[in-house]
Amino acid sequence: MYVILGESPEQFFGDSLDEAMKASVSENLRGWSPELRPGTNLYLPQYIVAGKYCDSARDVWWKYVREEPMKRTRPLLTGGLYHKLISEIIQEAKKYIYNSGMEPGFDISKHLSSIMEAVINSIFEQEKGDVINLLRVSDINEIKDNMRKMWNYQAVQISASVNMVLSKFTTIDTDALVSKAIPINVEQRLDGSRIGLSRQLSVDAMQVPHAVIMDIKTGKPRHFHKLTVTGYAMAYESEFRQPANMGCIIYPQFMEGKSVPYIEKRFYVIDDSARKEFIEERDRKMRIILEGKDPGLATHCPDSCGYFARCHPSGKDERVKADQ
Ligand code: SF4
Repeated sequence: MYVILGESPEQFFGDSLDEAMKASVSENLRGWSPELRPGTNLYLPQYIVAGKYCDSARDVWWKYVREEPMKRTRPLLTGGLYHKLISEIIQEAKKYIYNSGMEPGFDISKHLSSIMEAVINSIFEQEKGDVINLLRVSDINEIKDNMRKMWNYQAVQISASVNMVLSKFTTIDTDALVSKAIPINVEQRLDGSRIGLSRQLSVDAMQVPHAVIMDIKTGKPRHFHKLTVTGYAMAYESEFRQPANMGCIIYPQFMEGKSVPYIEKRFYVIDDSARKEFIEERDRKMRIILEGKDPGLATHCPDSCGYFARCHPSGKDERVKADQ
């Protein structure tokens, strides 16, 4: 029996996991297939291949051909802070179970509440430079409030999972408790080089018991987000030689007056078409880097883009101005 953040796999996934496991995937598109080797010695970070916020991929040209570092923007920083929080609470919960050994007084809910402020402050401290440069005091207060909502919400889910597993068994050792109640590995290190990705990928995956690749994103769901979990799934397959047919992306939203985040889950079957799209995108970006040719402006340039000031030195997208 597995419990996923307070829900059974049936409640959490519905029929999606069964459907994903039945999906037929071509052997030559599995991460372990030698046909997927990139044929160059470029190893790209996953966000470079899967990110399509810039549809012309001029951001890749700036970074690799012109060697201009991407300016971190407020949305990028904020997304990173929330992502870190989710990762921390899972790791802290596991650490508590392993350290306490479920001795008398074991109370994971109380423990997670007691460390919340310290963890949030430490996450901000790690990003101190960008926090000072990019966020106003009001932004910091709002993000911290949202992080508390997320932490409290997750703490309740994790505690419920742990208690539910404990209530099913007269005895259970700590390792079994962790794997059943919190069956997610966060920031697992994978070598993505066999499919042209970095050697140090950081991947979140559930084992329920099949591998499900997890991600969290702020902002609205976009079609190409599927490529993120697809790339990670293929890297997972290349390392473990086990199929990973499903990805799940969690989109939290924070609303004023609501004490818990609104959580939208999207499930993605890592089918042949997603795998082909990922490989095409990888090859397109590798070509831009190897040929060095400027691919030109994207169809739409969000002002949250880290290269906006480089592409639009006037501070505005000149094409938008011309249309007005
Ligand atoms: S400003 Fe536009 S063209 Fe330039 S990198 Fe960003 S999205 Fe791409």
